[in-house]
Amino acid sequence: MNSPLRTHPALATRVSSLKPSATVEMSERIRQSRAAGRRILGLSSGDPALPTDPRIIAAAEKAMRDGDTHYSTPAGQPALREAIAAHEKRRSGAAYDPADILVTPGGKFALLAALMGTVGPGDEVLVPEPGWVSYGPCVRLCGGAPVALEMLDRVDPQAIAAKITPSTRAIILNSPVNPTGRILPAAELAAVVELAQRHDLWIIFDQVYADLSYGAPVTFTQSSNAGRARTLVVDSLSKTFGMTGWRLGYLATPPGAAKAIVKFLQHSIYCVPPFVQAAGVAAFALYDELVPRYRAIFRARLERAAAALSKVGGIDCPMSDATFYLFPKVAADDAVVAKYWLDTIDVAALPGSAFGAAGAGHLRLSLSLSDAELDEALARIARVGIGPSAP
Ligand code: PMP
Repeated sequence: MNSPLRTHPALATRVSSLKPSATVEMSERIRQSRAAGRRILGLSSGDPALPTDPRIIAAAEKAMRDGDTHYSTPAGQPALREAIAAHEKRRSGAAYDPADILVTPGGKFALLAALMGTVGPGDEVLVPEPGWVSYGPCVRLCGGAPVALEMLDRVDPQAIAAKITPSTRAIILNSPVNPTGRILPAAELAAVVELAQRHDLWIIFDQVYADLSYGAPVTFTQSSNAGRARTLVVDSLSKTFGMTGWRLGYLATPPGAAKAIVKFLQHSIYCVPPFVQAAGVAAFALYDELVPRYRAIFRARLERAAAALSKVGGIDCPMSDATFYLFPKVAADDAVVAKYWLDTIDVAALPGSAFGAAGAGHLRLSLSLSDAELDEALARIARVGIGPSAP
């Protein structure tokens, strides 16, 4: 039925039926609370809140002043694609021809490009649960149907096999995992590659947190030849270099696939701004200096917070393998605890169930705030615990 206030024609169900992102909604709620004068300590953002290094900013500024302010090649500038290929070689061991790398506005658009390139109406895509909130909606935007795959503690090949149908086209894997901070071990990835081979599936491998790991090695499906042949790698400079607002990421494809997928970029964004790409080249050149420093900051914060939270009744908080997230178990309804903290101690956390039913009973805490603010948040949590709903 038409609302009396509606003045425009009906919107496509593609957007009207889409669920808003729980993480973006929480950021909005925090913004409103702050505007109303409340001092909210945010443990909910996916932004690492690292200032972009001034040398990266200078590279963008120089490119602009040098006239790099025009349309550029849709696949991405050669210097950046070469830097990405070198980075991939060093980290996953996979040798990419720069021709098989597409520069995208952030990892999120790399994911959308991967799905646009592989998923059609009625196709099913297995999506991890608990998992990042945008996987399902991006699958739907491509006309596909997301099928939740529970992988809280491990990737179970039998559970995957049970969900594969003749309509299944792809499986999305994310490692290190948002929200749990877990690194998927090599054996689990090998089992997925084997299943993907057997059922001729694409693997969309989202590795945007791969640079923020704390000891255990990060493994990649594209490291083996069999895996590389069917993996679409989604990555980004957002988390690694504190560059979320720059919107810079990439998609790496098996030989030849980029040539077709680039048409989606040509007809949508055209290209990532060339001066943003120049900043990306500068960032990769500073990797060895910057990234160990960022890693040390997050590791210290995670260890400190995990230890403090584990002392709170009703919270069980293991240290994460990677990322800047903790995913403690809470002995109460997670949405009730998150609401209680926001309402009573001005601490914003996300309920684990926002990442799918398999995340229920947990909270996702992002340690993307200053050390002093983190201490204050931890003190407030220690004071009230998990609130009146504690058993
Ligand atoms: N994948 C995961 C798992 C994420 O958490 C995020 C950001 N929250 C992204 C991809 C995309 O990030 P960006 O678009 O900034 O690269």
